[in-house]
Amino acid sequence: MKHRHPVDITPLTFLDYPRKAACIMWFNGCNLRCPYCYNPELVTDKNTSQVDEMAFLRERRGFLDAVVLSGGEITLQPGLRHLCEEIKELGYLVKIDTNGSNPRIVAELLENKLIDYVAMDNKMPSTRSWQLPGGKVLYNRFVESLEILQSSDIPYEIRTTVHPDLLDEADILQMIRETNLHGYSGTYYLQYFFTGVPTIGNMKPPTRRYDRGLLDHHSPLPIGYRNFPEDRGRM
Ligand code: SF4
Repeated sequence: MKHRHPVDITPLTFLDYPRKAACIMWFNGCNLRCPYCYNPELVTDKNTSQVDEMAFLRERRGFLDAVVLSGGEITLQPGLRHLCEEIKELGYLVKIDTNGSNPRIVAELLENKLIDYVAMDNKMPSTRSWQLPGGKVLYNRFVESLEILQSSDIPYEIRTTVHPDLLDEADILQMIRETNLHGYSGTYYLQYFFTGVPTIGNMKPPTRRYDRGLLDHHSPLPIGYRNFPEDRGRM
């Protein structure tokens, strides 16, 4: 099946694929509406641009190592398998960013060796999964995707975007423990929500800060903190 084109490309990042020079391709469409989402135009399909991603990649062979496929929710893209095949034919590594709601697609890409790295979002602890669109069904799909990744031989990471007024320390520790119980033993990444940009839920600045000492002390996994206000400006 022919794939859709990305609506935009970030031409170079050293932050999104571990130890690789990568570009990020952004695709429309998502099955969730996370209040902190800073890509509302992608989620609601309002960005109608189309980029010739293969021309971009042909020009950068030997300069970039990897392609990050992001959105939106990349596993909803029609023809994703075909897109990955074309990218890999050019010699690039492929990473997908996913919310884990499509285990069948993740399994298909893995079985055909079309992805090399996965970053998967964990949105909620199981006890609050009723708050997700699709509720427990969506949570169970995340768990299924996690088990598929756990039995694969590619590296992957689990991460959660955090806002102190949406998820507290107890929620976060529960999510880390649950992930660990399903076999994940890597670093658990906490990504602080982006402030000062339009978000789906018009998120306000938080009324409190996280107690990172408490999180580190009780977490069964090492925690990687990304974009936290107390770290900004530090090298
Ligand atoms: S944060 Fe990710 S999963 Fe949530 S609405 Fe935005 S693109 Fe979709």
